Order: sequence, then C-alpha cells, then structure tokens
Amino acid sequence: MMILNELSDLFFPRLCILCKSLLIEKEGQICLECLSELPYINSLTLRHNHPAAVLFAGQKNIVNVAAFLRYEKGGDVQKLIFSLKYRGNTELACQLGRQAALALQKRTEAPDGRVADLIIPVPLHTAKRRERGYNQSELISRGIASALNLPIYTTALVRCTATRTQTDKNSSERRLNMQKAFEFPDTRILPSGSRVLLVDDVITSGATLTACARALSSAPGIRITILALAAAGYNAT
Ligand SMILES: [Zn+2]
Repeated sequence: MMILNELSDLFFPRLCILCKSLLIEKEGQICLECLSELPYINSLTLRHNHPAAVLFAGQKNIVNVAAFLRYEKGGDVQKLIFSLKYRGNTELACQLGRQAALALQKRTEAPDGRVADLIIPVPLHTAKRRERGYNQSELISRGIASALNLPIYTTALVRCTATRTQTDKNSSERRLNMQKAFEFPDTRILPSGSRVLLVDDVITSGATLTACARALSSAPGIRITILALAAAGYNAT
C-alpha cells in the first residue's frame, strides 16, 4: 500500500491547497507550514469578542460558542471554506472538523471530560442539499464525530424555508425571517438534558445559529455548544 501511495504521488503529485507546494505523505491537504500559519482563535470562545455574542447571550441554553479560525475576506480560511462548501471537499472538511474538535476537547471543563453527547449539523433546505449534493456542516460534523466518538443527528433539525439572499431586508427583518426557517419536529428524538454540539461552517451574523438554537430549545434541559470552523468579524484583541 505504501509503495502504491508513493507511486501515485509520483504520477499525481499532491499539492498543498493553499501554497501549492508538494505534500509529503503524512500531510493532509494543507502542508504543515501553511497549517501552522492559519489564523487560529486561541481561546476558541467567541463571547465578548464577536458581534454575534450579543445574539447568543440572550439564549440561556447556549452554554458556549466556539470557532476555530478567523475568517477574513480573501484570506486562506476563505479559500478553505470555499473548497469544502462549494467543491464538496470531504477530506478537508473532515480534517478541519477533527482538528477543531480536538482543540475544543482540550478546553472542556465538563466533569466527564466530554464536549457533548451528540452532534447536530446546521441543516440545508432539501432543495439546496439536492442541488449541492451534500451539506458542508454534515461533512465537518463527520470529522468532529470521528475525533470525539459522538453520534450525528442529521434529521433532528429541519430547514423549512429556503432563505434566499436577503439583501433587500434590514437586519431585524432578516433575523425575523431566519427565526422561522428551522423546525425541530420531534423533541423526543433527543434524550432529556442532552448536551448538543451544533455545527456550522462559518459564523457571520450569528442569526442562523441563533435560530437553530431557538428551535432546539423546546427539548427539555437541552444545553448547546456551538462549534464553527471559522468566525467572520472576530475581534482578536
Ligand atoms: Zn502550504
């Protein structure tokens, strides 16, 4: 197998998705140098350091909001997110999901050392999912699940309206629209008091995740930790 991989690398050299240098066998899709230079959010937690913290603060069942990388327009993180969101780069989504999960695991203060009991990816509307062929949050969740050994609940939340670009609406109208976008049809699907890891690719305004958390809050005793691969507008002070 080793020889086959080496032969395949000879004929189809694998290149770093960011700097295009040749990858060595143990590297994933990002070379170790690029990986070490990514803009990590060291504390992971976004409270007080992100405009969306205000939105999250209003919801008692959100116990933590974490993001792994800072998202900047034109930056490396944008390239990575584009690749997993629009090119269906499953391997990259899994790799980054895994790393984000391990970073979160290191910081958990839960007495049993577990970040959560289960994972719920932010759903796509069925039409959009069909068109794209996958849900990027689900791909990321697979990496997280493999690192933390947690089940993924893909049918717990349903996106019932396909929210189109809402550039013609102001932010409170947008938020109101978003609040109606998710349904949680059967609360019995989750064990009582579940600790949920709610997973998305990028946190921007926080409206999508807040709407998901609000829909999930009908489950008794639910506690939600939000984990996104990246956060836009993060204030790194
Ligand atoms: Zn590189």
